[in-house]
Amino acid sequence: MNTTPLNTKEYIKAALADKNLRAAVGKATGSTADSRNAVIGQIPYWEDLRSRVHLIKKDAIENLDKYLIQFEENCKRNNINVHWASDAEEARNIILDIAQKSNSKKIVKSKSLTTEEINLNNFFADKNIEVLETDLGEYIVQLNKQIPSHLIIPAMHLSRKDIGKLFAEKLGVEYTEDPAELLSIARRILREKFLNADIGISGANFAFASSGSFCVVENEANAHLTISLPRIHIAVMGIEKLIPDKKYLPYFLKLLPPSATGQKSSTYVNFVGGVSRGRYGEGPEEVHIVLLDNGRTKILKDPKLRETLYCIRCGACLNACPVYKNIGGHSYGWVYMGPIGAALIPQYLGESEGKYSPFLSSLCGACADVCPVKIDLPGHLLELRNRVVESGNTPGYERGAFKIYSMIISRPRLYRFLSRFPAVMQKLMPAGKPFPVPGYKEEREFARFDEKGFGKRYKEFINNK
Ligand code: SF4
Repeated sequence: MNTTPLNTKEYIKAALADKNLRAAVGKATGSTADSRNAVIGQIPYWEDLRSRVHLIKKDAIENLDKYLIQFEENCKRNNINVHWASDAEEARNIILDIAQKSNSKKIVKSKSLTTEEINLNNFFADKNIEVLETDLGEYIVQLNKQIPSHLIIPAMHLSRKDIGKLFAEKLGVEYTEDPAELLSIARRILREKFLNADIGISGANFAFASSGSFCVVENEANAHLTISLPRIHIAVMGIEKLIPDKKYLPYFLKLLPPSATGQKSSTYVNFVGGVSRGRYGEGPEEVHIVLLDNGRTKILKDPKLRETLYCIRCGACLNACPVYKNIGGHSYGWVYMGPIGAALIPQYLGESEGKYSPFLSSLCGACADVCPVKIDLPGHLLELRNRVVESGNTPGYERGAFKIYSMIISRPRLYRFLSRFPAVMQKLMPAGKPFPVPGYKEEREFARFDEKGFGKRYKEFINNK
């Protein structure tokens, strides 16, 4: 799989040292989470909705083979060309083939994290075909030669000043940090690109097996322009996005906007159910859908982790996660980040490549509390941690330390004897000073050891019961 190499420790160190980034991420996640909480407070049946969509996704994922066949048949009936891509390379080549056969030179893209997953922009860079992101946040990170740092707010890590400087440097415009002016600069450039594009590429939030159609949910209308203006439309969709029927969509549309942006509803829901019928003169003449596996069927076969395919990419777990809030999305080193990224990275990229990701969590459970499809993220991260340990992908010193710990903890007399020492050693430290633990103490204080120790306290607790 062709992706940016993971270099998680380096990214984390850099992120923790970057006060501006932490402030920008903290502010944006905080305000989005506050808006979410305010909106869901007005939906009394919120928990019922979560349970309902969990069951819909469970059915969709457990019967995916059946629904995919049904989807393909119905797409064909609607004159939508269906392509199956087993991995990123196959998906890229399918899209290149469509572009070359139609002699296309200009592509506009919108709402497609899946194309980040297959590294499409870099692939086209040397093919003399321009691929331009059109959602404002995506456009900004593309100009900055980065990948999104958040599932929903791709340029979350950048401040207004950063964006003003970027536009001045890359677009040759006068510096401004006024959001309205920045927006109008981007709009001017993008409108021109939409009008001249040969192909529009989007993702799909949900696809419907029973009708062979799909939808894209958005706020900016860039997906609408991407779908309706160019002659050819290509949707790149992970196979897990399929749901059985359109009748279930309202449940998802009630859950997704509050979870993603703290809105009651999204501004636009674009439906694609075939090619332009000419009557209204709108829509593409050619529609393709690329159904991407890229490791998803491997996850599907895994009963313990299959649930991670229920994700609707709302980003709520990122906004709730204390780790994400401090390190931002780029620290995860891949296109999926936060608690769901930490669970997906080792599954997509392998336990060796993704060995650090499941540990980027405090396991506090905040992610599971907010997940609209009720994915047990802490449970999956624990399972993945187990697998990383069992596959020997932990550092030698850590394995050694746990062996010694296990030897001590399984010998009560030895444990009791040794457990006196930390408190005794602590007395040698200057009054009130904690242990100087390297790395740990850079961000927080190491708690002082209890004078009595756990054994004595436990006995007291039992005796006083
Ligand atoms: S895991 Fe849940 S909360 Fe996180 S992005 Fe996916 S659906 Fe949203």
